[in-house]
Amino acid sequence: MTITFAELTTMRVGGPVDDYVPVEETAELIDVVRHFDAAETPLMIIGDGSNLVVGDIGFRGAVIHVQTSGISVSGDRVSVEAGTLWDSVVAATIDNGLAGLEPLSGIPGSTGATPVQNVGAYGALMSTFLTHVRAFDRTTGTVVDIPVEDCGFGSHRKSLFKRNPRYVVLSVSFELPRDELSQPISYAGLAQRLGVELGERVRVAELREAVLSLRRERAMLLDPADHDTWSVGSFFVNPVLDEVPQQASECPTYPDVAGTKLPAAWLIENAGFPRGYGAEWGNGRVRLSGRHTLAVTNRGGATTSDVMAFAAHIRDGVESAFGVRLGPECDLINCSFDDPPTDV
Ligand SMILES: Cc1cc2nc3c(=O)[nH]c(=O)nc-3n(C[C@H](O)[C@H](O)[C@H](O)COP(=O)(O)OP(=O)(O)OC[C@H]3O[C@@H](n4cnc5c(N)ncnc54)[C@H](O)[C@@H]3O)c2cc1C
Repeated sequence: MTITFAELTTMRVGGPVDDYVPVEETAELIDVVRHFDAAETPLMIIGDGSNLVVGDIGFRGAVIHVQTSGISVSGDRVSVEAGTLWDSVVAATIDNGLAGLEPLSGIPGSTGATPVQNVGAYGALMSTFLTHVRAFDRTTGTVVDIPVEDCGFGSHRKSLFKRNPRYVVLSVSFELPRDELSQPISYAGLAQRLGVELGERVRVAELREAVLSLRRERAMLLDPADHDTWSVGSFFVNPVLDEVPQQASECPTYPDVAGTKLPAAWLIENAGFPRGYGAEWGNGRVRLSGRHTLAVTNRGGATTSDVMAFAAHIRDGVESAFGVRLGPECDLINCSFDDPPTDV
């Protein structure tokens, strides 16, 4: 039976997979990548499909679904196989008396994908406590340990691994403080939820619960029954600009190593696209989440073409209001909203 990307991704759109290869062991993962590379077969590596949109034509080639799993804790060092569900890693570190990852509770997807866009939430980044990434280097055919300082983190959501087919992440290693208390809270909404001041610390487990409850309210926890979560989380990346256009002078700004970062959610909302926008646009099958303007959602029965057309509509509205052109945070394979279909 043909498997489709609609079954493999949280946006639930996308066409057929030519050759679907689920892999549960790291040695096998290296072997299959070597095999397909030697045969010059086009290759795609996927985890849980929560940051991925693939075209309605699907993918001609092999799709390797990384399902390796295992968490090993030794003192304050934690090493995790790539296919392990990220949230189970956060929970396991807390169970082992370690702190630091708790603000990243509830982020969907596999651990191997977390360095790809240096996942972050509530003022925290996965790279903060990362020591190294073990990867298979498809150029040299060897396994390499890449220390955190060589992972290309820095500017928002960028890394050595982002949109770079050279590396297949095999495992990810952290060194975490042994502590009952969280890191100082740096996100105002979280401090407010916990009833503390910014910079205060709370018990790690308490912080995890507060993050999970905030994420649930914002439809940022996966729930198959809730169309607001049929998304890739943030569809658009927060733009980082050399210069903020005059039209966008009222937008809040944040420093970034590559320039000035603007919140895409503010730009979308203030360009006239409120939460839930889209019921009256096109065929209505794709809309902004009713609980978060950065999430483009499938209301059921949408195609990738529908998603691209809607994304282009939002991008164009923001550009005409503020002179800022939004791009995708998620990975787009065999689809684009640079040249979207016009008949939806
Ligand atoms: C409801 C929701 C909320 C979200 N909230 C957040 C959030 O708060 N913060 C945040 O940063 N992200 C968030 N995301 C995005 C997403 O969860 C993360 O980017 C996650 O790390 C993707 O993991 P995945 O296994 O699903 O990756 P996939 O979607 O399967 O893959 C994403 C990319 O990583 C590559 N990749 C995957 N595994 C490997 C590997 N082993 N080696 C090399 N490349 C690999 C793929 O080729 C692809 O390019 C959210 C998504 C959803 C749906």
